[in-house]
Amino acid sequence: MDRFNELKAEGIQMFGEVGAWAYDTWNDLNATYFDAKNTFGPIYWILKPQNKSLGCYFFSENIIYLYKGLVRPVYPTSMSKWCLDNLNKRLASDVLLHEMIHQKIHQTGGWTGESSHNNERFVDEVNRISKLLGLQATAKVIKSKMIDGRSTRYVEPGCLNLEETSNFPYATRSYDYYYGYRHY
Ligand SMILES: [Zn+2]
Repeated sequence: MDRFNELKAEGIQMFGEVGAWAYDTWNDLNATYFDAKNTFGPIYWILKPQNKSLGCYFFSENIIYLYKGLVRPVYPTSMSKWCLDNLNKRLASDVLLHEMIHQKIHQTGGWTGESSHNNERFVDEVNRISKLLGLQATAKVIKSKMIDGRSTRYVEPGCLNLEETSNFPYATRSYDYYYGYRHY
C-alpha cells in the first residue's frame, strides 16, 4: 500500500466516507487543474476554521484542513448526520481546490508579496483556474493608491476584490450553483 492509500485509509478511519471523498476528490482536482504535480498530504476535517474561511492549508506539514460545517443537510432539519449525502460536494470541492492553489504555490517556490492571497503567484493561479472553470473572474494584485491624499486600496474595474480573491472560487460562483442542486 503506498503512502497515498495509507493516508486515505487513515482518513476513512477518522472521517468515514467523507474522508475517502476528500482524498479521491483531491486526486481528481490534482489531475484536472495541476497536471497531477501537487504532492499529497493529509486532509483533515476540523470543527472550527481558524478564520472565516472554509478551509486552510498548513504549509509546514502539507496538511489541508476542511471545515466540518460543509457537511450538513440541505434543508433545515434536526438530523445533522455526518455522512456523504449531507456533504455539499460542489462547495467542498471548490474549497479543496482553493487550498490546493496554496499547496501548489508552496511546493513550487512559495510567494513574495503582501499576503498569501494578495501576491502575483496567487492571482496568476486564480486567473489560470478561472478560465478552466469557465468563470469570468479576473484578479490582479491589489495595491494601495493615494486618493484625495489618503492611501486607499484600489481594485481595478472588473477585477476581484481581496475578499473575493481570498475566497476564490467559491466567492465567485452563484449561490444557486452550490445550493440550487441536490447533493446526492
Ligand atoms: Zn486561502
